[in-house]
Amino acid sequence: MIAVAFDLDDTLMSERAYAHSGLRHVGGLLEARHGVVGAGARLVAILESGVRGSVFDAYFAEVGLDRAEIPELVRAYRAHAPDVRLYDDAAPLLDALRGRVFLALITDGPAVCQRAKLAALDLAPRFDLVLVTDERGADAWKPHPWSYARVAEAAGCPPDRCVYVGDNPAKDFVTPRALGWRTARVCRADRLREHPTASPAHEAEVTLTGLDGLLPLLGGWFPEPGLIPRVPAGTR
Ligand SMILES: [Mg+2]
Repeated sequence: MIAVAFDLDDTLMSERAYAHSGLRHVGGLLEARHGVVGAGARLVAILESGVRGSVFDAYFAEVGLDRAEIPELVRAYRAHAPDVRLYDDAAPLLDALRGRVFLALITDGPAVCQRAKLAALDLAPRFDLVLVTDERGADAWKPHPWSYARVAEAAGCPPDRCVYVGDNPAKDFVTPRALGWRTARVCRADRLREHPTASPAHEAEVTLTGLDGLLPLLGGWFPEPGLIPRVPAGTR
């Protein structure tokens, strides 16, 4: 057995698409409450201008609304049922690996957000183990070793038969590399954030532009006959 654990945001699902969905949802609330026109489109435009983490503040400053409303809007953003889907290369890959390897998901972020994403994507049934680190506590977010240890233990795999697939060199790879796992980074063209690497120890072993290259990579790392399919079923 081998274990393959995936990150969610910007690995299996577009974080940008999620942000757009949340901003449109909040924009709808603002339009209904205050009669402002085009709030959702303006919030998305502020995000796309490069603002990260303070989109609501920028919008409220523009239109002169009372900032006291923002914390409640952040809660509404996090709890909304997002309009998101998996990247096109994700479902065929997960289908190809299902039943052949131990499939795990490790995702950080506020638990209410991550659970809303999982529900919208109907993702949990695709995995043998889903770990929302925030449910263990804010300390358990990557790079804390808790989630990686849980995957290895549940799969019953030694470290050199565990793989982590993520996108963020700031936190995704340093711990599994230290534990002796294989690591692959997916660097999506539409990624929401740039992730400057903190040190060589934070880099993944291999960087891919999407998930199409993952099966050949796994096949090279684990060449046992019949373990890793050559291509996703029905996609070639
Ligand atoms: Mg991510």
